[in-house]
Amino acid sequence: MTDANRTPEAELLDYLQQRDVKCPTCGYNLRDLRRARCPECGSGLGLTVSVVDPFLSAWVVMVGVLFSAAGVGMFMLAYLTSMGFPPLPRSWIGKFAQGAIFYLIAAIPVALVTALCRRPFLRLNHLRQIRAALLVTLVTLGCAGILGYTLFILR
Ligand SMILES: [Zn+2]
Repeated sequence: MTDANRTPEAELLDYLQQRDVKCPTCGYNLRDLRRARCPECGSGLGLTVSVVDPFLSAWVVMVGVLFSAAGVGMFMLAYLTSMGFPPLPRSWIGKFAQGAIFYLIAAIPVALVTALCRRPFLRLNHLRQIRAALLVTLVTLGCAGILGYTLFILR
């Protein structure tokens, strides 16, 4: 039975009376808890609603693509520090290749930040998540293509 005057703490304690639930912080069994705080680690506790089947594909694709770009970026960074900037054509494709090198190096911190920002990313609606993942994938593929073409085919 639900009662509008019941506190969230009372709901939590009721819920934990019949269930073996582990503390999310320390893993202590919270069955028969008397107050909304873990007796083992002292973490404050509350009931929450979560999504049963989270939509993770776009985030996984985006992080995967960014870490791949970051891997190439680290290689480029090592190359630039030891060999200097590679000779690029003076035409527009050389400028694009230069931009691609900077993009791949910038992907190193961006990949780390994106990996850490899963929750804010998942708060975007699915269409925006897919668009972001698609944009990052296309830009990364474009950069890799231009750079590969400039460094390995034009030379
Ligand atoms: Zn605990």
